[in-house]
Amino acid sequence: SKNEVELSFDARSVNEGFARMAVAAFITELNPTMDELSDVKTAVSEAVTNAIIHGYDNPGEKVHMTCRIMGREVEIIVCDTGRGIEDVARAMEPFYTTKPELERSGMGFAFMEAFMDEVQVQSAPGKGTSVRMKK
Ligand code: ATP
Ligand code: MG
Repeated sequence: SKNEVELSFDARSVNEGFARMAVAAFITELNPTMDELSDVKTAVSEAVTNAIIHGYDNPGEKVHMTCRIMGREVEIIVCDTGRGIEDVARAMEPFYTTKPELERSGMGFAFMEAFMDEVQVQSAPGKGTSVRMKK
């Protein structure tokens, strides 16, 4: 079976919790285990936090999220039309962060890759970033 939802929300930190819960509610039809649920929520939360804190300066900008169920598989796309990433491969390395002053550890992408089966990042400086994850 196939099912899809699309959400757009302001790039505000409070909405990270909303995105996590929305995805959790959406995938209940798959009867995920607690571990699977927690993996997906963590990955979504990392991707959404990145869009909010790295993608944008202005909290009025929008983060877009598409969640799709295809059979037993869930696909989640989190994208922003913000700053973009110059070197995606380097950004995805563990411990790489451009915001050490905010006590970021540079582990967001590493968590997404650990908790999801597939993570693809497309980005262009000045245009934005799209993170596609599957489990
Ligand atoms: P942590 O996630 O551990 O708090 P972090 O966000 O810096 O720290 P990652 O999530 O791995 O670490 O991201 C690595 C780097 O990639 C960020 O520091 C930032 O420079 C860049 N980045 C990630 N997502 C985006 C985005 N949506 N827009 C612009 N830059 C991004
Ligand atoms: Mg991060």
